[in-house]
Amino acid sequence: MNRQTQASLQAYHSFRCPSITEEEVSIRSEDDLMEAYRLGLFNEPWIVLGHGTNTLFLPRVSERVFLMQFEGFEHEILNDDQIHVTVGAGVEWDDLVEWSISQGYGGIEAMIRIPGTCGAAPVQNIGAYGQELDHVLHGVRAFDTQKGVFHDFTPDECGFSYRDSLFKRPEGRHWIITSISLRLHGASYQIRPTYPSLVASLNEAGISNPTLKDVGQHVAAIRASKLPNPSSQPNAGSFFKNPVLRGDQASRFMAQFPEVPWFELEVGMSIPGVETEDDGTQDASSHAIKVPAGWLIEHVGLKGEWNGRVGVWPKQALVLYHQGEATGVDILELASRIQDKVRQTFGVELEQEVRVYGVE
Ligand code: FAD
Ligand code: NAP
Repeated sequence: MNRQTQASLQAYHSFRCPSITEEEVSIRSEDDLMEAYRLGLFNEPWIVLGHGTNTLFLPRVSERVFLMQFEGFEHEILNDDQIHVTVGAGVEWDDLVEWSISQGYGGIEAMIRIPGTCGAAPVQNIGAYGQELDHVLHGVRAFDTQKGVFHDFTPDECGFSYRDSLFKRPEGRHWIITSISLRLHGASYQIRPTYPSLVASLNEAGISNPTLKDVGQHVAAIRASKLPNPSSQPNAGSFFKNPVLRGDQASRFMAQFPEVPWFELEVGMSIPGVETEDDGTQDASSHAIKVPAGWLIEHVGLKGEWNGRVGVWPKQALVLYHQGEATGVDILELASRIQDKVRQTFGVELEQEVRVYGVE
């Protein structure tokens, strides 16, 4: 365990905005976590960080920042069709995806090039191009910073929903994830992409029976053509979540704005904010849709907008970026302008996906 006071966080988040924390602590093992617990380091406000690609730091951060640098990788072939993989929280997610494609193991190939660590993946239940972590997640090991014990979570205990989990909600923030286990698929895995831009890209290349490698290559190419590279244009991917509307609110919205695209929330996916019964069902009147936030931002005229030192990415309006000169405060100002305009025009509240810490 390494400790450093008055440390810069600039290199530890993909927005690269200047920021200083009171103390930064590198954690490399379960022993480090136990030692931090014994020293009482969790008794004062703290934050755990992976690679900071879904995080924005403001200039001054009073919380102690724990940097998760857990390594570790094990896999076990259960049978021809099931491969069990366990990886440390600090392992780069994309390294796992690349490995699974190279081995011919399916289930996460469309989630290629999502930046960040494996330990952060369950926090917002990462997803892209029709795949989502909870489709393959088998377990999460985490440290309870209140009791100083480890617990192995089943997928049900993680409380996954659309871009959300127990670990993202206030009641789950005392857990630090140390490893995740996935069940990947072997020989009988059916590769059937349905995500429109991926299908179009494969069709254009004349590929009707794609391999895992084809899917990975095409998703990687689409992403590279649409998204800014954080090392030259600092950003944290989508700044806002796609809003989820349910029941009457969804019906009213669809009637009032028939031109707005929407998608039924995946069947079987629990709806955030709606109570789930013991048998796992939710009230049928809580039918839910998700509305693409990028479309709403584009249609209030802010796609490509440049505001002082921060902009809305011209090819994807959900992404806020800068050229290396902005502070976190500049970014929040633009975010709040976007939220105001979308609320006034569509009556919809855009919730931040990116976690913001610190003060001016
Ligand atoms: P961090 O930013 O370090 O942390 C994110 C949150 O998780 C924080 O609240 C942190 O406290 C918490 N956390 C981190 N590690 C742990 C841990 N070990 N235990 C408990 N809590 C923890 N996301 C998608 O879902 N799909 C995408 O397609 C996608 N594309 C992206 C593209 C770009 C260019 C960028 C910059 C981001 C994109 N993201 C996407 C967002 C981001 O990649 C994911 O959210 C990723 O999982 C964040 O990993 P991280 O290690 O950087 O997390
Ligand atoms: P897109 O294809 O332009 O689509 C816009 C939005 O509509 C997406 O967010 C997607 O929701 C939804 N959508 C489109 N087709 C859908 C379908 N057939 N079924 C259900 N939902 C559908 O999106 P994009 O911006 O190029 O991103 C492509 C993928 O990469 C998306 O899955 C997106 O989530 C992911 N991505 C995420 C981030 C991030 O930081 N979170 C950044 C870049 C890309 P979903 O988001 O639920 O898929």
